Amino acid sequence: MPQGERACRLRSLGTSPLAAEVLIQHRNEAASSGSGLLTPSIHMTRRDEMSYGARIADGRQVELCDECGFDGRDIVDDAAELVAVCGRLAALVDERQDASERPGPEIFSATEYVQHSVEVIEGILGYIATVIGIQAPQVGDLGTAVGVARAILPSITADQRAALLYDKYRFPASVDWLLQHLLHDLQHHVLDIRRGYACITMSALPEVYTSRRDRPL
Ligand SMILES: [Zn+2]
Repeated sequence: MPQGERACRLRSLGTSPLAAEVLIQHRNEAASSGSGLLTPSIHMTRRDEMSYGARIADGRQVELCDECGFDGRDIVDDAAELVAVCGRLAALVDERQDASERPGPEIFSATEYVQHSVEVIEGILGYIATVIGIQAPQVGDLGTAVGVARAILPSITADQRAALLYDKYRFPASVDWLLQHLLHDLQHHVLDIRRGYACITMSALPEVYTSRRDRPL
């Protein structure tokens, strides 16, 4: 097996399109294999796609993930969480010489994942803006994403959180779930970038000491 393939079990570009609309369409198509409204959590193959989906818990749509441990009920401050994850994404590309290096030919570099994340933020906040009747924000980078998060999210009311988006997903998606889904997606992109760096480093350091009994030193 080629070294890069051995080292890199990352999501390929094929399941991580650049455009948020395309991404969401891709997920809609994936969700079409589900069996009904809201009930299925759409578990994709773990190496290809994060687990995601809306479940009803505590009377609300909740996103749960058995890969990263995300539980939407843990989110108590959407704005603070979005600001924090934007900070983590920025920190992952700041002053990194390998930020633009792809771990593999079909795998995003860190900077590409950040740009993709910015597009996802703009796309999903745009959906939310449509539902609650405000102007869709323009999000060009992580800095503007932080500003938009602080400007829009704290003022979303409980009634607005319960409002539903009907035409973008295979189920009516609440604003509450959209926010959870956005934060969850970005959490995975943080992991994607970290895995990418590890992959690059592992490829540069091919010798490995292993604890596997069938592969002694
Ligand atoms: Zn997850």
